[in-house]
Amino acid sequence: MQLTATMTMIIGLALAFTITGYPRFLQYPMRLWVRGLLIQPFSYALFSLRGQIPDWLSIIVANTLLSISFVHLILALYVYNRKPAKLPLMIAIVATTFIGESLLTYVWPSLYGRICLISILLALMCGLGVKAIYQRVEVITRPEHLVAIMFLVGGLIMLARMLKVPDVGMLSVVASTPMQGIVFTYAALLPVIATSGFLLMCGERLNKHLSRLATLDPLTGVFNRRTMTELAGKAVAASKRHGRALSLLIIDIDHFKRINDQFGHEAGDLALCRFVELVGEVMRESDVFARLGGEEFVVILPDSDERAAVEIAERIRQRLGDSDFSVSGWQVPLRVSIGVGTLGPAISDLETLLRMTDHAMYEAKRNGRNRVVPVSAMHSQSALDFGTRDSPQ
Ligand code: GH3
Ligand code: MG
Ligand code: MG
Repeated sequence: MQLTATMTMIIGLALAFTITGYPRFLQYPMRLWVRGLLIQPFSYALFSLRGQIPDWLSIIVANTLLSISFVHLILALYVYNRKPAKLPLMIAIVATTFIGESLLTYVWPSLYGRICLISILLALMCGLGVKAIYQRVEVITRPEHLVAIMFLVGGLIMLARMLKVPDVGMLSVVASTPMQGIVFTYAALLPVIATSGFLLMCGERLNKHLSRLATLDPLTGVFNRRTMTELAGKAVAASKRHGRALSLLIIDIDHFKRINDQFGHEAGDLALCRFVELVGEVMRESDVFARLGGEEFVVILPDSDERAAVEIAERIRQRLGDSDFSVSGWQVPLRVSIGVGTLGPAISDLETLLRMTDHAMYEAKRNGRNRVVPVSAMHSQSALDFGTRDSPQ
């Protein structure tokens, strides 16, 4: 028991030192887990001193600490999975441990009763731990299965222990019986295996978080340019392979600089976010929305020919025109110029598609802004094909 206590303490302290290296959203569940680990050794230390220290310490306080320690581990899993933590239930479990163990020590002294009570409560908490992990809708990762299995096994051992207790006619909680052997082996393995699993869970969550950061635009939350190029490349290849239509919109907000100049950069940022929200309302699930940079965006429209794409572009333009974006009570119009490009015999690769659609968008600017121009409707298509991006007046 003392070895387990020492090991749990060392693992808890080692983990405590690493927490600050993780992003904030993982620090809270990790801190709860560490607290759980650091409380447990005190409970084991008190158990191991049974007979040498007063009963209220080695029974009541020891069991209550064990209960508090498990509550922290379970809470860590709830917080990790962003589930409501069921605090009243957790407090009730700790209170039941304290009151129940006190009554079964001083009012109706019964070792069997005490062991049954703490076993039921620990089994209940192990069950809650398993539930906290499997309640999630997304795919459960392997480290999560590992932690869940550790709690499931713990719960089963606790229930089995209860059935086994009357046989041994126990004189002491530390009596050397096979069942006690299993219980204490589990107690020694739990901090090592479950903590490794929990750390791996946090590592996977961190990886997911970092890869999200690498693919999304931090301000608006839509894909960034790099991801757009990757996804558009795949969409072009898929479209060619299956002979399906593919169109692309390049959307540039009109006179965006004026919003910044009149209302400040923050209002400009808000306008970009509102713009993304409004365009999102018009898009389909399968469409890909990305920020090229500044106030320029791309929408990839799989299975859309030019006519369908122009229709979607018009709907976007109208949705933005109808919007009531305002800053400090001032109505701020969100108007856009949209170029529409479609894959076809003349445009067979992504680079050309992007370039021609960009030219179409600039044609929309030249023609007076707040309009949609498909590549096929450009006046001087061949000249633009070789020209550079010229700024409209
Ligand atoms: P046009 O109709 O010709 O497109 O005019 P415009 O003012 O929209 O275009 P211009 O290229 O002159 O200005 C774009 C402005 O967008 C300039 C830049 O300061 C601003 N901008 C770029 N990125 C951001 C951003 O992340 N936040 C804010 N607030 N402004 C940005
Ligand atoms: Mg602009
Ligand atoms: Mg621009």
